[in-house]
Amino acid sequence: MNLKEKQLQIGKIKKAILRLKNSPFYKERIKNNYIPVVGEGSLNAKIIFIGEAPGKNEAMSGKPFCGMSGKVLDRLLDSINLDREDIYITNIVNDRPPKNRDPKPKEIEMYSKFLDRQIGIIQPKIIATLGRFSAEYIMNRFNIGDKFEEISKLHGKSFKINLNKDKKRGKKIIIIPLFHPAVAIYNRKRLPELKKDFKKMGNILSKI
Ligand code: URA
Repeated sequence: MNLKEKQLQIGKIKKAILRLKNSPFYKERIKNNYIPVVGEGSLNAKIIFIGEAPGKNEAMSGKPFCGMSGKVLDRLLDSINLDREDIYITNIVNDRPPKNRDPKPKEIEMYSKFLDRQIGIIQPKIIATLGRFSAEYIMNRFNIGDKFEEISKLHGKSFKINLNKDKKRGKKIIIIPLFHPAVAIYNRKRLPELKKDFKKMGNILSKI
């Protein structure tokens, strides 16, 4: 798919999310003038980062990771010489859950088809999940759900999977589960671990 076609497809996803009137978050979106947050960054990126759901700053601006966790993320990216233009970043859920509560399984099910479509368009070589929810979803989606464990044990590991799971000899890519950058805000001890995992991921990225 060329870049123009990719842009067209992403545009279609945005329109479909805007029309998602049966979402439990739709009323809140309209009431608060929130904007659904679709992915951002390079549509030809080798690496796609997947967070959980937009917070208030994100829902007000329509941009992923533009608040406090975004600042931590930018520092981590910078530590491995990446910036936002080198990556694609998105979330499992595109609307803000009320009071930043965790997304429920039914909500993840409703929105994840948009995530799957974004992954299909970008065709990344690495999927880096940020936090427990996105690790669990992505690992189940690519048939390695049996390897899912608590994020404090899982973070920084890497898993080779088949991107186009329906094809027998599809493109091999790597899943790397990471802590959500927000953990470093309330637990500073996690920052060195995040840095270490990013370094490892940067090394893998430089070789593919
Ligand atoms: N946390 C997330 O998981 N996603 C965002 O876009 C912002 C904060």
